[in-house]
Formats: sequence, C-alpha cells, structure tokens
Amino acid sequence: MSTAIPLNVGITRSAGAGTTESVGKRVLLAEPRGYCAGVDRAVETVEKSLEKHGAPIYVRKEIVHNRHVVETLREQGVIFVDETDEVPEGAVVVFSAHGVSPAVHESAAARNLHTIDATCPLVTKVHQEAKRFARDDYDILLIGHEGHEEVEGTAGEAPDHVQLVDGPASVDKVTVRDESKVIWLSQTTLSVDETMETVRRLRERFPTLQDPPSDDICYATQNRQVAVKAMAPECDLVIVVGSRNSSNSVRLVEVALNAGAKASYLVDYAREVDQAWLDGVSTVGITSGASVPEILVRGVLDMLEEHGFADVQPVTTANETLVFSLPRELRTTTRR
Ligand code: SF4
Repeated sequence: MSTAIPLNVGITRSAGAGTTESVGKRVLLAEPRGYCAGVDRAVETVEKSLEKHGAPIYVRKEIVHNRHVVETLREQGVIFVDETDEVPEGAVVVFSAHGVSPAVHESAAARNLHTIDATCPLVTKVHQEAKRFARDDYDILLIGHEGHEEVEGTAGEAPDHVQLVDGPASVDKVTVRDESKVIWLSQTTLSVDETMETVRRLRERFPTLQDPPSDDICYATQNRQVAVKAMAPECDLVIVVGSRNSSNSVRLVEVALNAGAKASYLVDYAREVDQAWLDGVSTVGITSGASVPEILVRGVLDMLEEHGFADVQPVTTANETLVFSLPRELRTTTRR
C-alpha cells in the first residue's frame, strides 16, 4: 500500500473569517481528490472519439460512474448502451474505464463494431493477473462487489477459476480445490481496511493464501482514502462529492465515518446538500471520488462559502502526477 507524505493543513483560500456567521467555521479540503489518471484518460478517449468519428458514438455502460460526466457526454452525442447488441453493426463503441470480459470483445467483433477500449490500465493489470493465475490452475478469490462492472470483466477472464468474495461476511462460503494453490485479487476501488479484513479471514481458512503480485486497489483509491482519514477526526461533517454507483466514492463516506467524522454524506451536486446538515457544524471536510470533475467540488465550496465557511484549508497527503496515454488510435496530439 502507498505511503502518505506528511499532513499539510493550514493554507487559507479566502479571508472570510471574521463575520459573526463565519467565526470558527472552516473547510478542510482533501488533496488528492477527484479525477484519477484512468478516469481522465477514459473521458478524453470519448471526447477524442467524438471529434474523430462524429456523433453519435456509442459507449458500453457509463464511461465512468458519474452522473454529471455521463449527462454532459450524452448532450455531446454519446449514446450509452448496456450491451453491444444495442449498437448498430459497424458503429463506433467505446468500452468503459471499468473493463470488459473477453466475451464482450467477441460479441463486438461478431457485429463488426469499431471498438475503442478505455479500460483503465490498472484494471487491465488485474485482468492479466487473473489470466496468468488461471493458466497456472490456481483458485482465484476475487474480492469485490457483486454485480459491479469491473468485477464482471475481471471474472470473465477466467470464469472457471474465479470466485467472488463480496466482503468479510462471504468468506465462509468459499470452497477451493487445492489449498496450496489459492490467490486473492481484488476490485481496484475497494476500502483498503475492509479488504485487509477480508484477506485476514481468508488466510485463517487458507493459511498459504497468496497475495497479488502488486496492489490491486489502485493508487487513486488508496490516496483518496488516506486523505479523508487524515481529516475525518477533525470534521463534524464530511461531504463526499460523487455518484451513488461510484464504488470509490461510496467507500470514502464509509472511511470518513470509520475514521471519526461525526457525519458524512454523498452528493452529486451542491444542491443536494441539506442545510440541516450544517446546523452546529464548525468543520466541514470535502473530498470527491475518482470520477468527479472539480467543477462539482467548486459548487459545494461556493455553497458553503455562502453559509460562512469561507476559510478553506487543504489537507494534503500525497501528490499525484500519473498520466496514462490514450488508446493508440487516438494518440494524435500530446496530452496535457
Ligand atoms: S479509480 Fe483507479 S482503477 Fe479506477 S480508473 Fe481510476 S486509476 Fe483506474
């Protein structure tokens, strides 16, 4: 798991303190938050595909799990579908950041679809691990959430070898063929702490359980959880900006509460913040999931400023510089 750099609290965004309404009120702003390298790449992949091929283009599933992003792309001419058989023969279809199983590639090929794969490279890495350990005939215990697209894609690489373990409560149901050949892998966007608890229980049952070759929970998920943990003990309220179907966003609410925040809520937009949540609150923590554009966080900060929370202090636990290159066919220009 990644190492956090020292906590930095204390740069004031604006001199709003001093009025009666704002005395003692502050916002702690988690850093890092928002877009990760995989989401940035996936959204740009769709934008560049639209530029190159013209509207409409099709995207299988939500490109990333964020309402605002999906609605914005829909307005630009993207048609979101659940399955490739909804895409007209020969049309352009983008696969989402969460990845797809080989069966989806096959069905797209059978319909002569022009596919552009926006799967995050860190999800692809887990697919490669699943393929490799299936080839070596391991039982693969995939820790993840049942029904999540990423889990369906990864499990689809080796359906005969993969069993889903949906949290610590599922451990008792696991059966394996040979206890000396068992490995766990995971979805990239889980709670680190809960996953370690699941692994601990699995290892009680299978003492020679092998760990993945490298962390499957991605750097972005881990970094956002570390930042929220650092600020949560000081917060009366933590607002996480993100959508309900965004695994890493939902995990941030859980992590905030487990780390000592008195309350924590998930909102897509500033307008969803219930003013009653602010009653008697001095410190509000703000963070956002890995699929959330910064404009939505700005909306929440502006709303809070109107309620006297103008003093914004960053809580920085890591600096992220990772950038992924676009799918090859779209690499015509240098990325920012
Ligand atoms: S959350 Fe992690 S795995 Fe998912 S797109 Fe972002 S970097 Fe990739």
